[in-house]
Amino acid sequence: MNIAYLNGQFLQKELILISPDDRGFLFADGIYEVVRWYQGDFYDIDSHLKRLKRSMKELQIKWDEEDSFPNILHELIIRNGLEQQQSKVYLQVTRGCAPRTHSFPAPAVNPTVYAFASSIKSGTKEIESGVSVMLKKEMRWSRCDIKSISLLPNTLSFQEAIESGNYECVFIRDGLVTEGTHSNIFFMKNGALYTHPESDHILSGVTRKNVLRIAKSLDIPVYEEAVSEAMLGNISEAFLTGTTVEVTPVTKLGKIIMGNGHPGPVTKIIIEKFKAETSALKG
Ligand code: PLP
Repeated sequence: MNIAYLNGQFLQKELILISPDDRGFLFADGIYEVVRWYQGDFYDIDSHLKRLKRSMKELQIKWDEEDSFPNILHELIIRNGLEQQQSKVYLQVTRGCAPRTHSFPAPAVNPTVYAFASSIKSGTKEIESGVSVMLKKEMRWSRCDIKSISLLPNTLSFQEAIESGNYECVFIRDGLVTEGTHSNIFFMKNGALYTHPESDHILSGVTRKNVLRIAKSLDIPVYEEAVSEAMLGNISEAFLTGTTVEVTPVTKLGKIIMGNGHPGPVTKIIIEKFKAETSALKG
């Protein structure tokens, strides 16, 4: 039941071997995507493919079979018997194998494409009750828009969040709230919804994009504007979005308790609409 994908082949995961000369291993020189399967279909796989292509373009990685992305992902769901389970598929593309030197291999080599599927539990408890989030000074690079496999600041910060009893760590860059280690963040302020604009300082989340669409369809005023750390005292609601966290209310942000510690009303409506969309994917 543990079938993974490597460079055109579906193999038992434990039989997969990757060269120590792979630039993903040596330099974290690659990109990835994670797509969620809702017992019948993937959620907005088109946007994930578009972002995968953009990330590769930004790093000048060329994968000739990039359009086979949806088929590979679907095949992994089927081959692992995950059709009836909430699952996710992870796919990464690295620049390939070459003797170690900082410059790109010349001529270019084939990329290494690796993917696997696994089941995922819905965070029902967290979505119902809300979560606490820690705040931390940004320690990442300036191209957070690229979904790079180079994630050390994210993993270190997430570990810090877990060890301090938090669900996520959200970064502050130059006094502005950017995003979490693996999620985007939204705020309700004076009856309007705010989230950091697309820029080099955040990953343009697929869930973020869809939540913006949902909010607009509900006639909620939406501003893609960063919220400053200084303004956090004026926030009435907050929530995280992401493929793994879906839409998760934040009830404590740093030292600030939101909405008396309960998910806010607008957050709840958005969660309902988002759930309706994902439930409609079930076969
Ligand atoms: N921001 C970062 C840094 C992420 O790693 C992720 C997802 O892993 C997100 C935001 C949310 O993106 P998406 O909604 O496409 O999963």
